[in-house]
Amino acid sequence: MNPAPPGPPANGPALPASNASTSPARSRFAPSPTGRLHIGGARTALYDFLLARQTQGQFLLRIEDTDRKRLVPGAEEEQREALEWLGLAWDEGPDVGGPVGPYRQSERTQIYHEHAQLLVRGGNAYACFCTPDRLAQVRQEQQKKKLPPRYDGRCRDLPAAEVHARLASGEGHVIRFRTPREGTTTAVDLLRGPITVENASLDDYILLKSDGLPVYHLAALVDDRLMGITHVLRSSEWLPTFPLHVLIYQAFGWEQPVWVHLSIFLNPSGKGKMSKRGAGETVAGAMSIQVLDLRAAGYLPEAVINWIALMGWSLDDHTEVFTLPELVQAFSIGRLNASPAAVNYSKLDHFNGIHIRTLSFDELAHRLSPFFAAAGLGTSQDQLRRIAPLVQERIRTLEEAVEIAGFFFRDDFTPTPAALVPKGLTPSASQRALERALEAIRSLGDLEFEPLEARLRREAADLELEPGQLFSVLRIAVTGQAVSPPLLPSMQVLGVDIVVRRIERAIGILTLPV
Ligand code: GLU
Repeated sequence: MNPAPPGPPANGPALPASNASTSPARSRFAPSPTGRLHIGGARTALYDFLLARQTQGQFLLRIEDTDRKRLVPGAEEEQREALEWLGLAWDEGPDVGGPVGPYRQSERTQIYHEHAQLLVRGGNAYACFCTPDRLAQVRQEQQKKKLPPRYDGRCRDLPAAEVHARLASGEGHVIRFRTPREGTTTAVDLLRGPITVENASLDDYILLKSDGLPVYHLAALVDDRLMGITHVLRSSEWLPTFPLHVLIYQAFGWEQPVWVHLSIFLNPSGKGKMSKRGAGETVAGAMSIQVLDLRAAGYLPEAVINWIALMGWSLDDHTEVFTLPELVQAFSIGRLNASPAAVNYSKLDHFNGIHIRTLSFDELAHRLSPFFAAAGLGTSQDQLRRIAPLVQERIRTLEEAVEIAGFFFRDDFTPTPAALVPKGLTPSASQRALERALEAIRSLGDLEFEPLEARLRREAADLELEPGQLFSVLRIAVTGQAVSPPLLPSMQVLGVDIVVRRIERAIGILTLPV
């Protein structure tokens, strides 16, 4: 059996709903391992984390894996890796344990059975023996009559003796909630206020399936209660069944947590809900909504956190740059907003640039390393540390550093003769410029900035070139690129030998017979 929860026991006194942000909150992120962690889930986890940290409460990770058909192998691990990468460490969860475990629903089936039985005994749930075929027929007839699909209630009031006999004979069944047929239910969402529905519009939802496994409506609610959750932050896809959840809480006689249904994400166009499955792997354009894809594309966790934090919350109308510790200070659930937010990737680029520029050179070098490795380029921390200052102001993503600074680590580029002749020059003028640069470097013997720069400027004047023309040819020769980090500092990182070799190679290319 599960150990005693930190909150009151299952049927104990009502749990006081914590709404003052000063009392410690217990929040949970409860993903289903049916896919990867996308930015919608990450944002829910972030707000849960912030609420718990800010109030010195606890943030729990609970794996909702009772829908066995939809399980994706490796999804739980992938989601945990993404949360860890974002820095959203949980206090209790399937891997770290905690006082109210287990934290994986498939290991808690006994608890759900007991709670389903509590509802049955209290007259709030009943065994339903209808077969899938019969239910399909009922649905068809309802469709024909243009009625909303719902259970027709055939097993709702079976005589007790019949139910016992059928159960005793081992007949397959589900447990359904006995939704009141009359009256209304009011569910209160923190962001949206009271939502009132006619009970007659709700179905007799299944709580336990015929395989004995619970559905969300039972498992999540029971767990939230037993785990002492004070604030349920979840996707607004649960709004339609929110009144049902309130009815189930009432049937158990439990006080409700604070309910917060977060704003939805729209596609970047602002049209249509961001889809998260199948075709939703990427949205409008090539950008992915999956957290670990953003990591692979060279976004910092700091930037992703900053970006998603503001998709549904703001401190005021102007502060936009936050680190995770700053968010812990600044966050409040009172400033969450319910308006849909369009996914805006240029904002992500903007935040990434800002957070890249706040990294120390050592840290930037460290973060760049896997990107060079992925491109097949061997680097050392020391080399990257020298390159970090040259790229820090110039990259929007870590990945871009490979594009603009790959030339430091590869020698396999061969500029074309055409590339070595910038606009306004002739091949022989380019060749002369490179020969003069080579002589200058050889005679100076090193690449010290000021003497070399002065000398190259003099050489350019002597050849009746603009200094920029000479530097352009030299840049192509040394880096293979028309755009690069500052040239002379880059040459210093490369060292005299490599620079000389590359200039000679370029001269060779220019002197090839055409
Ligand atoms: N497992 C549910 C989901 O992934 C959790 C919803 C909730 O946070 O209550 O949608």
